[in-house]
Amino acid sequence: MGLPLAVNEVENRLYINGEFVPSSDGKTFTVKSPYSYEAVATVYEATENDTNRAVAAAKAAFPAWSALDPHERGAYLSRLATLVRDSHTELATLDALCMGRPVSSYFDAHYSANIYDHYAQAGFDAKGQTSLNTKGHMNFTLRQPIGVVGAIIPWNVPVVLFAHKVAPALAAGCTIVLKSSEKAPLSSLKLASLIHAAGFPPGTVNVLSGFGNPSGSILSSHMDVRLINFTGSVATGRHVSAAAARSNLKKVILELGGKSPALIFEDADIEQASTETVMSMRLLSGQACIANSRIYVQKSVAPAFLAAFRAKFEDVKCGDPLDPATTQGPQADGIQFERINHYIALGNEAMGKTDAGAKQQQPPSTTNSHGNGNSKTSGFFIPPTIFTSVPESAPSMRDEIFGPVVHINTFATEAEAVQKANDTEFGLYASVYTRDLDRAMRVARALESGTVGINCTSPTIAGDMPFGGESLLLFFYSFFFYFFFFFFFYFFLYAV
Ligand code: NAD
Repeated sequence: MGLPLAVNEVENRLYINGEFVPSSDGKTFTVKSPYSYEAVATVYEATENDTNRAVAAAKAAFPAWSALDPHERGAYLSRLATLVRDSHTELATLDALCMGRPVSSYFDAHYSANIYDHYAQAGFDAKGQTSLNTKGHMNFTLRQPIGVVGAIIPWNVPVVLFAHKVAPALAAGCTIVLKSSEKAPLSSLKLASLIHAAGFPPGTVNVLSGFGNPSGSILSSHMDVRLINFTGSVATGRHVSAAAARSNLKKVILELGGKSPALIFEDADIEQASTETVMSMRLLSGQACIANSRIYVQKSVAPAFLAAFRAKFEDVKCGDPLDPATTQGPQADGIQFERINHYIALGNEAMGKTDAGAKQQQPPSTTNSHGNGNSKTSGFFIPPTIFTSVPESAPSMRDEIFGPVVHINTFATEAEAVQKANDTEFGLYASVYTRDLDRAMRVARALESGTVGINCTSPTIAGDMPFGGESLLLFFYSFFFYFFFFFFFYFFLYAV
């Protein structure tokens, strides 16, 4: 299947102050398909000057945007929701081209349209508190829009994360500068065109394509950016946090990585648990922060679970992500491919043997296979890989791999299961499968995780509940953190 879009048909400019413009120095970078290795587009890269211009535009737009009432801001978000929904096919195509995401499982446009619709109504939730508990005083808190928000997103679900950043900021009355990932800038540029079509005032939303340096680091350290909302790796999160601290001590929201555990007790519905944990790992070819990449099964049911899991997990059709029959696309790029292979090698080493499926892939041919009928040799494909019995201390067990690689270990008791699940630096999503509801609630409370699914696993989340991690490394604060809180209350609210 050849590229469905001509390189020169795709929007490749920066969106600053309501206009699409080339970068100030004309510099571009090339985005390549991880399936065919063909150039998909040449995209303008934001310079320091462009980033500063975008922040200045957002700052200038802030007074008028924040002065609108929530109904008025919500009307723009509702229009955007409709436009995003209508652009499902184009957004799916752009993400398939940039990072190999199969169109067959693309839900992002509809999912994110619902987010815009939700936040179209949510502006009215911004309410403070009152207290008469100080003798002779009447106390109240106000929630006010914080100002210019900087947002930096990764490549794995750009359309969803664009909505997670932009929708709550706009609903709160903030203006925003978003930098997309250099690996997947095209769907964000399409979204910029939809923002334009929805009629948002110039400068309210600005969209930059570019790398961590210069545009990402400038946003993190910019004195006029009052809050930076970052999703990406732990390593980059540290840089963002440090830059924020060194500059204006802006507020920082970090959504980082994961190594999410799923606990399968012996009374669980094995069919359901195996189906859902496979789906969690298959999502985005394992390139999901919430993928249940560590599964702990009670010993008595481990053989049955493993057999059911393996049969489903290995039943994939790798191929062109644009082909509706493809269920697993290539990994996002050569860097991801090498990283996953590195961890597969470490997993093998830790076990002292090669487990079925855990075979290191050879680098794909760099020859473009399109048009020669040999598409099976093309693309950064990693087969679904299962490790069993890898020691808990092994690097492949502890680090985020971000690929279709799952570790399945066993436990004897509830206490052992909880201890193993919590023995991690990450705490984004955990799940527990059991028919015993007392145990389910007990274990859910004991799991150190931002979200716990009971008889369900990621990506299941409740759309109207906070989402994020719990640990020393992971902090996520939702809608309300786009506001200042006055008085001492804010410290306690931040700690919730
Ligand atoms: P990454 O950290 O390499 O890059 C993320 C973004 O940061 C990109 O836009 C990049 O250009 C930018 N960046 C790089 N260096 C920077 C710097 N010095 N200053 C500012 N910005 C900089 O991550 P990635 O490879 O794009 O994404 C994968 C990671 O994202 C995984 O760790 C995954 O778990 C995480 N992720 C987390 C969630 C969540 O909700 N917690 C969701 C999706 C992805």
